[in-house]
Amino acid sequence: MNKGLLSVEEALEVLLAGARPVAQIEEVPTLEATDRVLARPQVSTMDVPPLDNSAMDGYAVRTADVMVPDARLKVSQRIMAGAVGHALEAGTAARIFTGAPIPPGADAIVMQEFCAVDGDHVVVKKVPQKEAWIRRRASDIAKGAQILAAGIRLRPQDTGLAASVGIKALPVHRRVRLGLFFTGDELVMPGEPLPPGRIYNSNRFTLNGLAQVFGCEVRDYGIVPDSLEATRVVLKRAAAECDVIVTSGGVSVGEADFVKPAVEAEGSLLMWKIAMKPGRPLAFGKVGGAAFIGLPGNPVSSFVTFLIFVRPFVLKTQGIVQVAPRAIDARADFDWLEPDSRREYLRVKWNPQGGLDLYATQDSAVLTSTAWADGLVDNPPNHAIHKGERVRYLPFSELYW
Ligand code: AMP
Ligand code: MG
Repeated sequence: MNKGLLSVEEALEVLLAGARPVAQIEEVPTLEATDRVLARPQVSTMDVPPLDNSAMDGYAVRTADVMVPDARLKVSQRIMAGAVGHALEAGTAARIFTGAPIPPGADAIVMQEFCAVDGDHVVVKKVPQKEAWIRRRASDIAKGAQILAAGIRLRPQDTGLAASVGIKALPVHRRVRLGLFFTGDELVMPGEPLPPGRIYNSNRFTLNGLAQVFGCEVRDYGIVPDSLEATRVVLKRAAAECDVIVTSGGVSVGEADFVKPAVEAEGSLLMWKIAMKPGRPLAFGKVGGAAFIGLPGNPVSSFVTFLIFVRPFVLKTQGIVQVAPRAIDARADFDWLEPDSRREYLRVKWNPQGGLDLYATQDSAVLTSTAWADGLVDNPPNHAIHKGERVRYLPFSELYW
């Protein structure tokens, strides 16, 4: 049925084997490192917390002094966060605040809610457990422990964690330079009048946005006319300036499809027909030092093939280790009774009942489906879906990462 067609897995394997992490590493201030890809594992040079400290506002006590309710202790010191107290004498309590170091000798904190102040004394109404509300030194992070692995895209909490052990700058991979251009004599930019027969270059917006989502530095070469010479010129320029070149349109083998001969003239190319819908034609090659991926022109096809192929390629080039998207096992609240012999990526939306609804039109030219949807169902070839069945759901929130 799919003779001569490559499976998505086969294409991904070849594609990813050709992706190399960007070699240049930059030091960026930790405050600016969110979304960048960490190039080296980070190890803590300190214990966290660095000292035993209180998890509550209250009183530090020796449990031996408060074995029965209503023990009355003299308040011998006050320890604010940021200060250090002195050894706690037997029979006394220390007023203490959250984060403040535990004075030597104390072995429990009593929450202030369970204490009554009586002049310069405190009455401890509740008998505390040993260790209550004490955060021990190194209980979170021990000196020498790895706190962040290489090859992760740093999230806000990761930069916070680095800062919590005093790391002020982080080594990250240089951003991938991604070149984009759009083939087609029919293309017109928004803002220009639209003559009969022409269409707006919507892929420029979708693909620019996707490239930004994946942290690329985008070089946008705009619309390239359907001519071999024009395509070769822009390819050569993009290859000199970029790590990866992504194009839309012109990869079929029609009379106006010049991407294939242009890449072959300037570099080398594999042309694939992929057993997926939307999608089918995909070009993968090399021009100079740059990788080349040619996507189909249909707006939904270029969007989906970007997510399925360009996304993992770019993420791996960016230095990310885990590039496979996580899928969710979800319930289909729709029937899909005439499946294609190719693997399908259906535009769906999660409904308030916790199931998935299907967009009525799955035509690869209908961009509305992608804007309505919040993810894709990855449907195996020839697989009919019956209402209530579990399906493999790829939410955009997982893919956009
Ligand atoms: P192609 O792959 O060049 O044969 O194009 C397939 C279809 O996608 C045609 O209907 C094109 O008009 C359309 N198309 C190509 N490029 C774009 C683009 N940049 N924006 C919107 N539609 C496009
Ligand atoms: Mg075209």
